[in-house]
Amino acid sequence: MTPQNPYVNKGNMAAPLGRICGKLGRHLSRPWCASQWRPRQGSSRSVAEAAPEQGGMAPGVYPPLQTFSEEETMMKEAVKKFAQERIAPFVSKMDENSSMDQEVINDLFEQGLMGIEIDPEYGGTGSTFFSSILVIEELAKVDPSVAVLCDIQNTLINTLVTNLGTEAQKQQYLSRLSTDMVGSFCLSEAESGSDAFSLKTRAEKHKDYFVINGSKMWISNAEHAGVFLVMANVDPSAGYRGITCFIVDRDTEGLQIGKKENKLGLRASSTCPLNFDNVKVPEKNILGKAGQGYKYAIGMLNEGRIGIAAQMLGLAQGCFDHAVPYTRQRVQFGKRIFDFQGMQHQIAHVATQLEAARLLTYNAARLREAKRPFIKEACMAKYFAAEVATLTTSKCIEWMGGVGFTKDYPIEKYYRDCKIGTIYEGTTNIQLSTMAKFIDQEYDH
Ligand SMILES: Cc1cc2nc3c(=O)[nH]c(=O)nc-3n(C[C@H](O)[C@H](O)[C@H](O)COP(=O)(O)OP(=O)(O)OC[C@H]3O[C@@H](n4cnc5c(N)ncnc54)[C@H](O)[C@@H]3O)c2cc1C
Repeated sequence: MTPQNPYVNKGNMAAPLGRICGKLGRHLSRPWCASQWRPRQGSSRSVAEAAPEQGGMAPGVYPPLQTFSEEETMMKEAVKKFAQERIAPFVSKMDENSSMDQEVINDLFEQGLMGIEIDPEYGGTGSTFFSSILVIEELAKVDPSVAVLCDIQNTLINTLVTNLGTEAQKQQYLSRLSTDMVGSFCLSEAESGSDAFSLKTRAEKHKDYFVINGSKMWISNAEHAGVFLVMANVDPSAGYRGITCFIVDRDTEGLQIGKKENKLGLRASSTCPLNFDNVKVPEKNILGKAGQGYKYAIGMLNEGRIGIAAQMLGLAQGCFDHAVPYTRQRVQFGKRIFDFQGMQHQIAHVATQLEAARLLTYNAARLREAKRPFIKEACMAKYFAAEVATLTTSKCIEWMGGVGFTKDYPIEKYYRDCKIGTIYEGTTNIQLSTMAKFIDQEYDH
């Protein structure tokens, strides 16, 4: 049982894009572009609002968490198809070469997936945070490296510029971020990882500009980024209250992008060190207020963690979707290996873990979208989804026996890719410590 391209999961293909769009009368190349949409709160009724006979909820009855609006459903299905058709053929080669194909990046922009929440006024898709989460999940089913490119752009970079940018910054950067420019988020340094705000990169004020000196480490997507959001301290005597976010263009003199890391997993996603050697940045390139960078970074990472949860969830589901069909076909002792109770119990257990990870992730995303407190829930989602991804990918290799251990199937790649979920955007220990802080406060009175 060796499919022609095992990276393409034919059994789970969505309806062709043309058909989805045709049915809903959407634009073909960017089917979820907001300009083609009706707004969410308007004529487009969610399942919750629909009449019970149409599958909607009776008054006073609340919809289950896995209820999507028409737009969300369409986006999820279209991205599923896009990922199978346009990304899957590149996955194995990109992993082998440790390099993201430019065609894949171009396609993400072309499809409107790099500016999901950006206002159409700036060339974005004008959709929602929850849609971003669904997109990240769908992309990660096929390639977690592509998912993290889309995740960082949407949940960190675009959100920071949208929330904090001046009109001039929005005009200059949002229009590029939504159409052709990758952005990177630069917080970590060699000496400051979990203890991020002990960072040493310095920005010294001179008249109407700053001079940045220092270095950053582990910067995702740096190989392709056109712009970097850099956390640097303008007043070390004030401690972390000196941390400021600067917009630094790639071609700024003195900025060097180092050799990318040779990683265990997520190999197609570039991770590079950056060096700042007297990098001159105009004062107008401060994003938000000077000295508030630590607040912005914490705020964005809280949201970003839901994106990483979605990445881990998608990764785990993508792996499961490859392995279970195999167990239904592989015959030993005269029957399908799926039919052994020892296998069924393991498969059902993992399916339950996946469902729980999905509910935690969607709940955190819905809380964030409803502007309700979500930090503890985001930590729980990221922590748990990373655990589930570790369990699922490990089990899937076992279920496939020897072939699961080879590069003929994508399972071993999911297994390598999942490890990052316990490290970036706050390690598992940091998630647990944050949750514990909230739990402690809940019992304060
Ligand atoms: C592939 C990749 C991509 C990345 N992308 C980016 C990016 O785009 N931008 C960016 O700014 N950063 C990025 N990072 C950096 C990432 O966020 C850090 O690696 C992470 O925060 C952990 O920091 P560290 O590696 O220095 O580990 P450390 O902080 O040294 O942690 C090592 C161990 O000590 C534990 N530990 C540390 N402090 C505590 C504590 N207080 N309590 C309990 N345990 C503790 C940790 O949980 C961990 O197990 C990336 C990293 C990787 C590997």
